[in-house]
Parts: sequence; structure tokens; C-alpha cells
Amino acid sequence: MFRVFSFFGVVFLSVFFCRSEVKAPAQVDESAISDEIQESKTRKPYLVPAAMVSTFREKYQARFGMQPTLTLQKDDVSVFLLNAGEHKDAVFNGIKINEARSYPPFIYFDPTYAARLERGYTALEDLQTGYKDPMLNEALLAGVVKAYPRFTKLHIIGTTALGRNLLALELSDFKAREKKIALLFSGAMHGNELTATEHCYHIISEILKNTGNYAEILSHHSLWIIPIANPDGNHFFWHVSSLMGRKNASIGPGQTHASPMRGVDLNRNFPFRWNSGHKKASSEDPNSVYYRGPSPGSEKETQAIMQLAERERFLFAISFHAVSGKILIPYTIENTRNPSPDYAGAFAREIAPQVRHHNPRRGFRAVKNIYPVDGTDQDYLYFKYGTIAYIVESSYRNSEYRYVPYFLEGYQPLWSGMLNDYGANYKFALRVKNARGEPVRAAVKFSDVTFFEGEKRTTNPGDGSFFRLTKNGDPVEVTISAAGYKPYRAEIAPHGVGYPPLTEISLEAN
Ligand SMILES: [Zn+2]
Repeated sequence: MFRVFSFFGVVFLSVFFCRSEVKAPAQVDESAISDEIQESKTRKPYLVPAAMVSTFREKYQARFGMQPTLTLQKDDVSVFLLNAGEHKDAVFNGIKINEARSYPPFIYFDPTYAARLERGYTALEDLQTGYKDPMLNEALLAGVVKAYPRFTKLHIIGTTALGRNLLALELSDFKAREKKIALLFSGAMHGNELTATEHCYHIISEILKNTGNYAEILSHHSLWIIPIANPDGNHFFWHVSSLMGRKNASIGPGQTHASPMRGVDLNRNFPFRWNSGHKKASSEDPNSVYYRGPSPGSEKETQAIMQLAERERFLFAISFHAVSGKILIPYTIENTRNPSPDYAGAFAREIAPQVRHHNPRRGFRAVKNIYPVDGTDQDYLYFKYGTIAYIVESSYRNSEYRYVPYFLEGYQPLWSGMLNDYGANYKFALRVKNARGEPVRAAVKFSDVTFFEGEKRTTNPGDGSFFRLTKNGDPVEVTISAAGYKPYRAEIAPHGVGYPPLTEISLEAN
């Protein structure tokens, strides 16, 4: 079901002219950056018929002293970006150019896409030169795996409604000395939030750029990175219409392949408090952008993440979204009580002040319940496995790419904090086996933890492992039980700083 795959061919489009240099801003005026981004968003795509392109270019060059920004060239038409002033300019009188229809596809706004797809992967720097669609994602991940075989594996963790592969890159040193601590980073579950994918690529490039500095992290962890968790929606957004893309490609009752409002909001589809009853938390209407799907966990993309989580038992997870500049603490559902003590809440509140939001007027905050929502991945992971799981809402959505490196740097403390947290804090690390040394799926209860929503913590049936973080070094009573075995009860103290071996616990048969 989870196979590693090697490089495969990518369909390249023809080379397009591209003038934009993509560079991180050397110095950013923080107070001005949001206004500047807003201003850059006023550029709109215009279609110029093939017969008029050279005249248009000449007139534009003569008027503005440079070439216009071409984003897409098809047989009969070219797409150029113009701002309102340029469009109004009298110099274009007599040239028939039309503003693109409402909700043009994102490719109409990206002058670098074609060249980047043509280039594919040549070096790590290619990971941070522009936004990715599913084709670029596939080409870049395959390139990374070829270039860094010691530290990366590419997995197909499932397929989508339209048959696209759901790709996950695993970062680790793959030395099987000990059990690795699994972490999950995913982006673009809402396929129209392109900035989310960039946070995933930032993690990949920062770690591979500095494998020496990250040697200890790579030796104790396994980082699962899914840059595009909703490839069908992401493809629609890029290549069909920017009205689409939040949802996946499923066809609901009364819809067809041509329905622009088709699809399920994957982040309302996870089976914890699905359809909680709150009217605004999700929708039963297939045409709503918050459509939760016909049943809990109905979508293939949702199921792929559920299966991966069941196998890997992530200690931490971030699902990157855009745009409100916040870290959302689970549970996000109204009237749902977190376990006590609440490590997820504590970690988020500690780390949030270290994150730099691009707009100091707003800042970056840890919040709970900012708006009614149900069926999210983070709540499911926290409920089912105790994963310290967050939705992180990044800065601006789909701004000009030159601003993106600034957002990414600002958010780095979040994920590097997660990578360091296990080693730096108190933790329980167990392995439960039977007398024959086989792993046992067992319930694990701690005397210091109270649950309010019926949560059950279990060992990983694959290897009997169990991890838990705690802020407190005091010994607690642990009870481990499984059908067919005598309950095990003991007082144990958590480990302190470092990466301890798992405490082996052997269950006696009844
Ligand atoms: Zn989102």
C-alpha cells in the first residue's frame, strides 16, 4: 500500500519567455509590506490575440521602457499582466486586448511557471523559486530524492479522486538503530492556498542544506512531508479556475465533471465530530465551499492521511493553511474539552511569540476556536493518537512569490521548535511486547491525565511503541492493558533531556 517510487517522466510544456527575477527581499519594511502586497495584487491578466502580440509588445516597450509580463502563451492567445494604469493607457487604443474572464486560473498570474517546469530539479535552490502545482511538485520531489538518497524517500500514500498520486517525502537518516519519532507536515489540503505548500518545501530545503546541523534530528526522527495534500483541487486552481481548488474533485449529488463548485472540503471530512451539529462548522450542501462530504472519512485523500497516521503515530503535526497568521490549538470544535494536562495548548502558547508575522500590526497568535469548524485533520489526530496537531494559518495567500521567503523565515521557529521539543523535554517512551517478544496493541493510561471526550491511547500495533510528552518530571502510575493479557501497572518516571531507549514492558498472558 505504501510504496517507495523512483523518478518518472514528467510532461514538459514548451519554454516561455520570462522576465521576472525571483529573489528574497534583502530588506523588508515590515510596516509597508502588506500594503505593498495589496498593491501588487491589482495586476490583472489580459488576453492578447496572437496577431496583435508583436504590435502590443512594441507599443508597451515604447511607452514603459521594458517588456510586458507574459504569463502564458497558447496557440491563439498570449496572457500578459497589466495594472490598471497600464491598461488605461491610451497607447493601447486600437489594440484589442481583453481582461481575462472572472476567476482566471492561477497560471495566468505566474510568469515563471513554464520555465520552472521546463527546468525541473537541478539544485535545492529550485525548491524556492515559485509556487508549485502537482506536476512541479512531482518533478521537484523526484529530483530531491535522486540528489539526496541518504536522507530522503518518496512515498505514494494514496491516490486522489482523479487518480493523481498523493506524494509524501520522508526525511530521516534511515539508520534502524532505534525507533524514530514520526512528525507530519502537510500543506494545501485547501488546494488554493499555495503559500501552505511553500512552508513544506522550506522544511525540506533547510534540512537538506544543513544535514550536518540536523544530524541528530535526522537520526532520531522521521519527518513526513506532504506538500500538496489536495492535488486535484490544486490542479483546478492552477489550470482551470481560481474559483476552484479549496475542495477536492469529488462529484456530489446533482453535480457533473463541469461543476465549478464540485468537491469536498477535506478539512471538514475527518471522522472526529464530523457534522457536529453546529450550522456554520461545515455544510451538507455539495455546492458549499465547506461541504463535509457524504460521510465521515469518505474521501480518498482523507483516508490516505488516516492510514499513514495509524501506521506512523505522529508525535507532532502541522497542516499548513493560509491566510490569517495563527496557530490553531486543537480541539477546534465548540464545547469540546481538551485533555488535562493539555500539552498541545501549552506548546502552541510557548512557541507563538517566537513566530514573526509579516504584519506587525496583526502579529502571530495561538488561538482556539476562532471560527466554528468540525471534521478537521488536527482534531482527528489529537483525539485518535494524542498527536500534538495544529493548523497553522500562514501569512498572505498567493502573494507575488518574492515575498514568500520572508514569510517562510518568520515561521521557521514553529517547525524547528517541534523538531527540538522531544529531545529537550520530559517524555515517556515505551515498547509493549508479549513473552514471545511480539508487539502488542495495548491501551495505555496515565494517572496524571484526564480525558473528557472518550479518548483512548494505544500502542502502535506495528512495533508496540508508545510516546508521550509531558511538562512534569514527577513519576506517575501507568496502566497497560490488552485482551488476553494480565494488566500491567507500575510507577514510572519520565525521561529528561535526550533520546532515551524505549522502556521495554512485557505483558504476561492470562
Ligand atoms: Zn485552508
